[in-house]
Amino acid sequence: MSTGVTMDDTQPENDLRVERQRWSEACDSMGESSPKQMIRGGAEFQRQKVLNQAENNWKAFLGSTDTGLHRIEQAASTGAQSDLMDSTRWGWSCMLQLQEADNWVKPAVTTWAAEFLLRDGESREFLGSWINSSAVHEAKKRRAKQVITFSFPCGRWLHMIGARASPGCELCKRERNMDRKTTDVLPPETLAHIQSARCKAQKKSVIGAHNRCWKYFIGPISTHGEATRDLEFIGGDKDKQLEKLWAETQLGDILHPWVEIADEAERLLENDQATRRVPDGNQADKEQEGNQAVARDETDTYNETIFGRRRPESIAVEWSSKVLYVLDFKRTSDRRRNYRERGEARARAQYDVLVKSLEKVAGEAVGENSGWKIKLIIFVGGTCGSVHAETLNNNLKELGVIESKRNTVRKGLVHELRNAQDTVLCSYFAQRSGERGEGRRWKSTVGEAFQGLDYLE
Ligand SMILES: [Zn+2]
Repeated sequence: MSTGVTMDDTQPENDLRVERQRWSEACDSMGESSPKQMIRGGAEFQRQKVLNQAENNWKAFLGSTDTGLHRIEQAASTGAQSDLMDSTRWGWSCMLQLQEADNWVKPAVTTWAAEFLLRDGESREFLGSWINSSAVHEAKKRRAKQVITFSFPCGRWLHMIGARASPGCELCKRERNMDRKTTDVLPPETLAHIQSARCKAQKKSVIGAHNRCWKYFIGPISTHGEATRDLEFIGGDKDKQLEKLWAETQLGDILHPWVEIADEAERLLENDQATRRVPDGNQADKEQEGNQAVARDETDTYNETIFGRRRPESIAVEWSSKVLYVLDFKRTSDRRRNYRERGEARARAQYDVLVKSLEKVAGEAVGENSGWKIKLIIFVGGTCGSVHAETLNNNLKELGVIESKRNTVRKGLVHELRNAQDTVLCSYFAQRSGERGEGRRWKSTVGEAFQGLDYLE
């Protein structure tokens, strides 16, 4: 690993066309069949067909990756990475894992990509269309594939293939050096870590990515309303605290002054203090996650439901049917299958007191202000571009988005999530390159060669 790896970033047009064709075929076939349903039905023939297809998808996926990945494939001849690259062994282990699908706790690194790509109902068709799109730069596509095939050259991966002495996060190390703190124990430089606000250097970029996704999303929801809809978004300015929103908008007129809601919330918090526990599963999840820690928003703690400090993304009022919507958006790691349920659970816990307080106060209203309902709508998007189609469509329906536009909105969100992840990864590369010594040759390791390849667009 001491010699530099040179990489040829050019690729014949032909290969690209084949690559696109393969990807779209892979995506088409994924959309048609559900491996899980077939296994449950016990149809051996069908199952084998799906598995063969899965293996073909995998081969096509690996075969379609560019020179860079092939080079890395050569470099990564040992360890878990060699399993990932070995498509014949992959087929067999994929089958074993699919048989155990219901008990999946820790999908092995080798088949994670397959599991991810074959997940049902997670808008993979739009992940495919993003990777197919001629508007998306090849380097972006490459990074997406690296993330999906677990070969993104972050510190821990480089450590794994022997290109770096330590798996610790170099960005955190630099931050700590600047703060004159000890660097003895550093968080591992995993993909999850560099995509989370826990990596201090990446925090701004991570929060920015979240905000851009929501900003995109709220646009088409506002635009494509059904004719009968009378929905108004209140408080686009995220910095504005709820108390201020109540004072400055009509919310105070329909739902009592803010002070009443705040009182109710305080009462609930006091009552609950002794009994309130973290939601079920949280602890178990934490234990399961281990090193595959999920990139959860650093600021999302269950106890931080205090008003003013953390507020939902948006409040929307449906005037004709008297519904006040509390809207929230979680951009979260979709490495695990239950990412959406977990994101939803976090949001519910976070807004539990707010929603209950609003419900209580609304329930006590009399006269023309009576009859208001409170609804919490949670949107969850995966960092790799997972969006659960059925849940999203139901949410859009609830918010009165025209049926014919719902798929377009979903596609847009998937693409936006992909772009968002890429800006976070680019921020990582930019910061990593910033720490290089002036006189050092940047192609000294596989990792740095990759960094140059990816970063120079
Ligand atoms: Zn870090």
